[in-house]
Amino acid sequence: MGFLYRKVFLKNKNMNKKILTDTFQFVSYPKPIKPPKLSKYQRLMTKKGRKHKKSLPSISSLKKKANLLFSNFIRSRDKYTCVLCKFKGDKTTIDNGHLIKRSSKLFLFSELNCHALCKKCNYKDWKDGTYHDVYVAWFIKNYGAFPYADMVERKDSIKQLKRLDYLEIIDKYDQKSWTIR
Ligand SMILES: [Zn+2]
Repeated sequence: MGFLYRKVFLKNKNMNKKILTDTFQFVSYPKPIKPPKLSKYQRLMTKKGRKHKKSLPSISSLKKKANLLFSNFIRSRDKYTCVLCKFKGDKTTIDNGHLIKRSSKLFLFSELNCHALCKKCNYKDWKDGTYHDVYVAWFIKNYGAFPYADMVERKDSIKQLKRLDYLEIIDKYDQKSWTIR
């Protein structure tokens, strides 16, 4: 019921609804849209939050948290099993492997670029170029040659990640890790 109708109705208690509907047109109000609830980190980035500069988390702590959440997500997505040698491990023996190396900021937190690797395979991939080719071959077999070529081409298009980028990653994977477990 619109506000206009209610106000008139209260003033003229003897009038019936019929007359009122003839005289007044009901106005329906769209429900006010509530702003989306901000996460703890997003709140800190608002104007009000910025006043409390001391409570703003440091970039390095955000980096650490984003890395941990994302790594947990990737490793549990791949069921703590190395995609290359099929070794099944746990949090201590399985790494979050990057096909395009960590120096590429664009694909640092890419679900396509990251897979569970055991410590051995991750180390070999890093040190031994021929073993890296095994990883590339595995990727192309599973995802196709185009995504790989595309990632290689765009890998250096971002110089660095900003505070907000890390905040977005944290928010995204904080929720995701809840649904996966
Ligand atoms: Zn392995």
